[in-house]
Amino acid sequence: MKGQAWQVFSSRTSAPRSAKDRSSLRLEPWRVFLFVFALAGVAIVLQLLNARHTIREAEEARLQDVSRYVSENLTRQLKGLNEALTRISRDYRATALTASSADASRQLHLLTDVIQAVRGLAVHDANGTAVASDRAADVGRDFFAAEFFRGVHGRPDPRVLYLSRPSASDDEGVALYLSRAIFDAEGHFSGVVSATLDDEFFAFIIRSALFAPDMRATLAHADGEVFVTVPSMGTERMANLARPGSAFEAHVKSQRQTTVFEGLVPATGRERLVVLASVKPVGLGLDNTVVLAVSRERSEVYAPWYAQVRMYAMLYAALLVAATGLRLIERRRLRRLLAHEEASQAALQLTAARLERALDGAQLGLWELQVDSRQLRIDARGARMLGYGDAEVARPIEEWTATLHPADQAANAAAFYEHLKGASPAYENEFRVRVQDRFVWLFSRGKVTERAKSGAPLRIIGTFMDITPRKTSEAALADAVLLQKKSGEIARIGGWTRDLTTGQSQWTDEVYRIHDLDPGGAPDLPRTLDFYTEASRPLIATAVDRCLQDGTPWDLELQIVSAKGRMLWVRTQGEAIWQDGAIVRITGAFQDITARKQAALELERLNATLSELSYQDALTGLGNRRLFDDTLQAEWARNTRQGTALSLLMVDVDYFKRFNDRHGHQAGDECLKRVAGVLREALWRSHERAMRYGGEEFAILLPETTREGARLVAQRVLDAVAAARIAHGASPLGAWVTLSIGVACIAPSMEAKPASLTRRADMALYQAKAQGRAGLVVEDMPP
Ligand code: GH3
Ligand code: MG
Ligand code: MG
Repeated sequence: MKGQAWQVFSSRTSAPRSAKDRSSLRLEPWRVFLFVFALAGVAIVLQLLNARHTIREAEEARLQDVSRYVSENLTRQLKGLNEALTRISRDYRATALTASSADASRQLHLLTDVIQAVRGLAVHDANGTAVASDRAADVGRDFFAAEFFRGVHGRPDPRVLYLSRPSASDDEGVALYLSRAIFDAEGHFSGVVSATLDDEFFAFIIRSALFAPDMRATLAHADGEVFVTVPSMGTERMANLARPGSAFEAHVKSQRQTTVFEGLVPATGRERLVVLASVKPVGLGLDNTVVLAVSRERSEVYAPWYAQVRMYAMLYAALLVAATGLRLIERRRLRRLLAHEEASQAALQLTAARLERALDGAQLGLWELQVDSRQLRIDARGARMLGYGDAEVARPIEEWTATLHPADQAANAAAFYEHLKGASPAYENEFRVRVQDRFVWLFSRGKVTERAKSGAPLRIIGTFMDITPRKTSEAALADAVLLQKKSGEIARIGGWTRDLTTGQSQWTDEVYRIHDLDPGGAPDLPRTLDFYTEASRPLIATAVDRCLQDGTPWDLELQIVSAKGRMLWVRTQGEAIWQDGAIVRITGAFQDITARKQAALELERLNATLSELSYQDALTGLGNRRLFDDTLQAEWARNTRQGTALSLLMVDVDYFKRFNDRHGHQAGDECLKRVAGVLREALWRSHERAMRYGGEEFAILLPETTREGARLVAQRVLDAVAAARIAHGASPLGAWVTLSIGVACIAPSMEAKPASLTRRADMALYQAKAQGRAGLVVEDMPP
């Protein structure tokens, strides 16, 4: 049940993202970022490797150049020296070595000066004794044990140029000897000529070729013994390069012309780039190889490259930091976005839940029409309302419209297409649909929620509600209204209401009709009161005021004069309607009771006539006015015939109006009964008859009674009433009821009329009243 409304609304919208979707959403840019950076890193590394390679190649080439230059120079020197030594050795072929002269030594000295590459020249005999030397002191010295001599002496060969191993020289330098064997004319070994190479000269040559301060070049014997190193390092004196596993050793063994090596040089313990070149000029017959090592400090070679690497690394790091920063910012933004999305999802779900509750509470069904597929779906609640079970129902629109009441189909289609065209803001209609074997009334409301770019509707969503009960009660209400109208007409009764907040009054048609007004805006209150007669108006005004003040209801029978001047009796009823402790409305009924009232009056009149036919007063039991009239007539005639006097006493209760006002009308009636009783007892003679003349007036007719006689009777009456002590709470004369009596006496005649006696008694009574009441006046006219 929950979420069904949501399903209908969300079928076209995207489903909420799963946690997995969200994490991949978070990772994707991160991966791209990493990939790009890795790629940039690889590119940089490749570029750097390439740069390193280039540097290395360039440096190698430069070292090769130096090596070549030095080698060529060395070769040239060696060749020159070889020639010099060969010439000297030939010179000594004929000359006896033993008898060498000072001239020979001087010659060698000169030669030494001329040849830059040599520091000294000497000739030794077959036993190693110096026979000539540029250094005079050496002549005659035995060099048999010297290495350079023994090398030649061991295996003398005219083709060989002997190169000694470097050895410590006398002057703390390193001595390297080039020697050749001397043979006598017979071809026997006869001695050795040798030259001491000038290490400083070679150092000079080398120095001229070096181009960097960290560069070093070394000339060494193939055995590894160093001859000269530039720049010189004290520690390397006599150092041996041919350490086991060293590049030098490997180079010599390989017999290659050149070897390039990069790495640790064991002799110095430093990382260097080294070009090793073997110098063994062809045709010289050199018995040993000179190895030239030209090298540079690796760190120096690669210094620019390291700078480049540092720069790239810094750049890369900076980029990495920047990108990571950006990425973090982006991530925070994304997280906020996700949080926001989650919040809005939650809000959406809340809204959906609320909608669901609202729909549930309002008993609304939902429908959705997909225009292109012409499918109309209703949700589960709607399906239940229409008796289709507990699940959503989707059907072509035609099937739904077929269930409409035939009388409603055209109007519904019209309302629907009106909205589809865009002519109405929403589709709204009431119609009947068949639910099982009966029709129910539905109120349906819908709206296009999606339109194509062209404006054509794509999707319409709506609600519907079962309004059958309302429709039924509407019909019942219409019936009731009609009934009220009809019965109102028959009973001549209407209703009215007056809203105190708006001051508006409403009358039913019958109220208008009673007033002889045309139905329409009811008159205001003062105007309404104007319809009442003078006598009725204060009563209704008071009643309305009291009702407005404290809600006292009224129910009065009053008279109005209609707009057409008809005098009508009406029964008006009113009561207050309270709301929150205040009167908001007065409402009531208004009925024309003229007919009933007339009937009642008619009845009263009829009753009066009936009572007139009798002689007895209903209240007091005394004779009534009719009896008085008839008796007066009869007595008048009799007394006329007999010529006797006829007296009349008119008795009137004093201040009786006040009595009524004080004690009430009923007490007034009781009082009249008691007065009648007093009269009955006071007049005991058969011809003395008291009758009720009217109201609180009584007449006592005394036939054959003189004026004096009448006075006595009157006095007796006054005494009797005084004795009776009937309480009177409002008399200015005292606590008891008093009477005033007018007495008249007449001798009836044919000329005179009975009424004259009554008139004269009345006049006497009037005088009695005028004289202060509670007394009698006898009229003093002569009979
Ligand atoms: P006065 O002393 O001048 O006679 O004053 P009064 O008030 O008695 O005279 P008035 O004629 O002014 O008032 C008579 C009153 O008697 C008026 C009427 O209401 C009352 N009355 C008349 N008939 C009856 C009746 O049958 N029963 C009751 N209770 N009162 C009546
Ligand atoms: Mg009176
Ligand atoms: Mg009176």
